[in-house]
Amino acid sequence: MFNLINNVARPDKNGFFGRFGGAFIPENLQKEMHKVAVAYEELKKSPDFINEMKYIRKTYQGRPTPITYCRNLSKQIGGADIYLKREDLNHTGAHKLNHCMGEALLAKHLGKKKIIAETGAGQHGVATATAAAYFGLECEIHMGELDIAKQHPNVMRMKLLGAKIVPVTFGEKTLKEAVDSAFMSYLKNPESSIYCIGSVVGPHPFPMMVRDFQEIIGIEAKEQFQEMTGKLPDNVVACVGGGSNAIGIFSAFLNDEAVKLYGVEPLGRSAKTGDHAASITYGIEGQIHGFKSFVLQDEKGEPLPVYSIASGLDYPSVGPEHAFLHDIGRVSYVTADDKECLNAFYTLPKSEGIIAALESSHAVAFALKLAKEKPQENILVNLSGRGDKDIDYINDNFGF
Ligand SMILES: *Cc1c(COP(=O)(O)O)cnc(C)c1O
Repeated sequence: MFNLINNVARPDKNGFFGRFGGAFIPENLQKEMHKVAVAYEELKKSPDFINEMKYIRKTYQGRPTPITYCRNLSKQIGGADIYLKREDLNHTGAHKLNHCMGEALLAKHLGKKKIIAETGAGQHGVATATAAAYFGLECEIHMGELDIAKQHPNVMRMKLLGAKIVPVTFGEKTLKEAVDSAFMSYLKNPESSIYCIGSVVGPHPFPMMVRDFQEIIGIEAKEQFQEMTGKLPDNVVACVGGGSNAIGIFSAFLNDEAVKLYGVEPLGRSAKTGDHAASITYGIEGQIHGFKSFVLQDEKGEPLPVYSIASGLDYPSVGPEHAFLHDIGRVSYVTADDKECLNAFYTLPKSEGIIAALESSHAVAFALKLAKEKPQENILVNLSGRGDKDIDYINDNFGF
């Protein structure tokens, strides 16, 4: 039997969760990553660091975020009681700020001047630029040229927040190349800058650090849920792109065997290659962006093109800790397709007055199915972000 506390909360010293994770990167970068890992181990025990984090969460981010009981929706479905952990109410509208503020605080303590990050749809770029502004750090965001054209409002937000946008003009000109470009820039100046990764992915220590910063979701949720209902949730559901919001809420419940955990992957248009981004469900073991995990890849090990209606879930791999939790069977990884996601996206505003992000709508979609199958149980859904960013896209493509 695995001791979950020891194996999950603490990857081994080389950053492995079971056989997943690690740091497969050039030697000079490995040295820098090691420095960051050592400094982080010290800092996370420092009362100054812990207190500053607490202060920021309370006075800037708006934490704790509440849990909302979906009275109307639960009645409408005629099944399980559905609850939402409201990460959409975090400043900037999603859970991403949880780890961006943590990484920026770490940067400040390490005496770094600049934060470098990549962004696809712009959500991680906006959260990083926000954190950089708060701490008075320079911010450099790498973004594919195609994404810059597509995500105009987020590009403007980042500029307004003082970030420098670096357009990426090679390859497919989207997220994967933006990661490569950001890594290259970081390699040029690792002493004065830090790379702020967007999820629980990348080389060690990022999957562990980002998870630690996101753990606050689960810690709050467990206490709040028990206060509201007098018991633990029967089911906890979260969408999985890289996996940061999911691991954030799961972590508090990993040792509660009675609590069933579901990670929802995007099935896109269909199970056909290139039409989805369900990396655990359809991927094979491989290496990407400096770590080992399940990867949607071709025979040569090159990442395959992926797709989801939710651009925040559009990644050909998944955090190593999720690969491990899948392996030991602690978390069930399931899917929701575009249609189910859209149905949930349209349902929640009318029944509860909450517009959820397309990413989060995948979790809601699965919860709606589960609620019908298990009418006696309750379900806690991590609502990772708000859907205001998706409204133009939905209107242009599907209408209201
Ligand atoms: C980025 C994003 C996600 C996906 O990222 P994870 O690391 O899998 O959590 C999910 N929801 C929202 C709202 C996002 O912005």
